Amino acid sequence: MRKSILALSFAALLSVGSYASEHQGAHWDYDAHGPSHWGEFGETCAKGAAQSPINILTNQTAAIETSKAIALTEAVQTKGAVVDNGHAIQVNIDNGGKLTVDGTDYKLLQFHFHGKSEEMIDGKQYDLVAHMVHKSDAGNLAVIAVLFEEGKTANKMVQKVIDNVGKPIEINPNDLLPKQSDHYFHFMGSLTTPPCSENVKWYVMKEVQSATKAQVEAMRKFYANNYRPVQPLNGRKIESK
Ligand SMILES: [Zn+2]
Repeated sequence: MRKSILALSFAALLSVGSYASEHQGAHWDYDAHGPSHWGEFGETCAKGAAQSPINILTNQTAAIETSKAIALTEAVQTKGAVVDNGHAIQVNIDNGGKLTVDGTDYKLLQFHFHGKSEEMIDGKQYDLVAHMVHKSDAGNLAVIAVLFEEGKTANKMVQKVIDNVGKPIEINPNDLLPKQSDHYFHFMGSLTTPPCSENVKWYVMKEVQSATKAQVEAMRKFYANNYRPVQPLNGRKIESK
């Protein structure tokens, strides 16, 4: 069981970047080998200057440049599989939708959940976040973050994921996006797990989704503490649409 979890997690990392394996015999985590040690697993985690997540200060954002706005084509019915990748519950997508930015398509590979939001908005941390990881043919990454707050309304996609861990699934990734998917913050950042590769385009949806307390708790039964602390902005520009 342990072996298969590690194998899955290794495969997941390979799919989003090159794996720095200088740390033989140990593996990064959120505990003894947590975020302050991640430089041992990927140099960029410690030395990078454009790391994610960040705290978005809304009064310091600028209007988005047209070339950085995204067009979403996520309304695609697809097969996939819900896996425990060893760090998060993740839905691998067979053939889903895409986002397009400045004429380049980024295909949806997977989405996964963190037990609290990694990104903050004006210092506020949310109750869950989903990260939708997209990749271009050239290997560049673009990630959409969907924030969740505990509320009265259940989220259908969160429920479907929780109910199908370890199983195949048929979904429409568009169901994860907020209705107002045309409003978001954008900045350049990194993967929030080793190897913390940079040059990742981040899009954080402004419309926060509701998930029930039971759903948040069910997701946290798998992973409650799998979020990286916010990283220095280092003069990066945050754009708003
Ligand atoms: Zn993530």
